[in-house]
Amino acid sequence: MDFSIPQETKEVLARVREFVTQELYPIEKIDQGKRFGELVPMLHEKRDKVRALGLWQPQVPQEYGGMGLGFLDHAMVSEELARSPYGHYVCGAQAPDAGNIEILIEYGTEAQRERWLQPLLSGESRSCFSMTERDRPGSNPVWMDTTAVREGDDYVINGEKWFTTSADGAAFAIVMAVTNPEAPPHKRASQIIVPTDTPGFSLVRNIPCMGHVGDDWMSHGEIKYDNVRVPVENCLGEEGSGFAIAQSRLGAGRIHHCMRWIGIAERSLDLMCRRAAMREIAPGEALASRQTVQNWIAESRAAIDAARLMVLNAAWKIDNVGARESRIEISTIKFYTARAMLDTVDRAIQVHGALGISDDTVLQSFYRHERAARIYDGPDEVHKRVVARQILKEYGYPKP
Ligand SMILES: Cc1cc2nc3c(=O)[nH]c(=O)nc-3n(C[C@H](O)[C@H](O)[C@H](O)COP(=O)(O)OP(=O)(O)OC[C@H]3O[C@@H](n4cnc5c(N)ncnc54)[C@H](O)[C@@H]3O)c2cc1C
Repeated sequence: MDFSIPQETKEVLARVREFVTQELYPIEKIDQGKRFGELVPMLHEKRDKVRALGLWQPQVPQEYGGMGLGFLDHAMVSEELARSPYGHYVCGAQAPDAGNIEILIEYGTEAQRERWLQPLLSGESRSCFSMTERDRPGSNPVWMDTTAVREGDDYVINGEKWFTTSADGAAFAIVMAVTNPEAPPHKRASQIIVPTDTPGFSLVRNIPCMGHVGDDWMSHGEIKYDNVRVPVENCLGEEGSGFAIAQSRLGAGRIHHCMRWIGIAERSLDLMCRRAAMREIAPGEALASRQTVQNWIAESRAAIDAARLMVLNAAWKIDNVGARESRIEISTIKFYTARAMLDTVDRAIQVHGALGISDDTVLQSFYRHERAARIYDGPDEVHKRVVARQILKEYGYPKP
């Protein structure tokens, strides 16, 4: 798709595509069975190349050392980076750091930025975002048990979180905790910076997922906060604004996730087509000659293109009228793109046969790691409900 993409953006996209193809695809031949931590030294060498190419942190404003791309341009770069599981990490655009960087730039005080933002910008350290609890529904984020009680000039935090992505090795967590239990539900929680070496903070375990134990950046942590004491200056924004800050992060975050999923779908479609064209199922008869396979290719093409147009439209709308007015679009792309991506990955695996589930292609990694797309940042059902309710309002439902 290249309608109305400025020439300058096209050039950036071509450079990113070349880097990902030349430097990151080959890693897929050597990463099999390796822990992420074992790959980190090599990935950091790639980061040096990224910096030399001027592709470091595409999403970060230039005054903070990034490429300073606009929202739409970054969304398109994100698609290119996602063709490799290492693209975002190597370019310093990986979740959850990218979201935390955004929050610190927008809501951080001078002192918070100095201490916590700078090391994220340089890539020296990593961070995590700790909101979901095992015993409370993540899909109802205003209901949580973790508390931060004010004692003098400190908060004392108690609670248990899980699925705190990339907690293993992170320098700090941004923790969502109830600070104002008597306030209306959306104003009860705050986001508080907690250094991971604070007494009482413990990473209980990396939660094994889909057979993957997880480590380092590629992990999901279970965390205990046991009388963790941090100064009140570690609160981000105003006390009680945790939910509002989380919402502001999720609008843009969903665009980024969706474009990442489109990159994954494109790579999967590419692999599907290559395999279909070269695999003979009888002498002289390529798999591509079978109509079922042709249908999969056509349906994937249509779904990816539709998803991309919907995502870019949502990004455009956020830019022009804000995230609040774009709720239908944001929720629609969240469930639609996740499904389009997962369907495409699944078809690509099917076309590869046994090879598709082996570790010899990247497809198995997409399949295992990306199933979660229909769950995090709001499960499908929650987003469909948002869309349907907004539409039904126009039909007088629910009755006032
Ligand atoms: C890979 C991965 C990474 C994650 N990273 C982070 C992270 O870094 N930080 C963090 O804080 N959290 C993270 N999470 C947690 C994520 O945000 C939650 O899993 C998500 O919000 C869903 O919450 P839950 O798991 O508690 O499911 P629940 O809220 O218990 O929901 C379970 C299911 O119920 C159904 N459901 C829920 N609500 C409705 C409804 N209104 N109508 C109909 N059906 C409904 C849906 O099918 C849903 O899947 C991550 C999760 C995953 C899987």
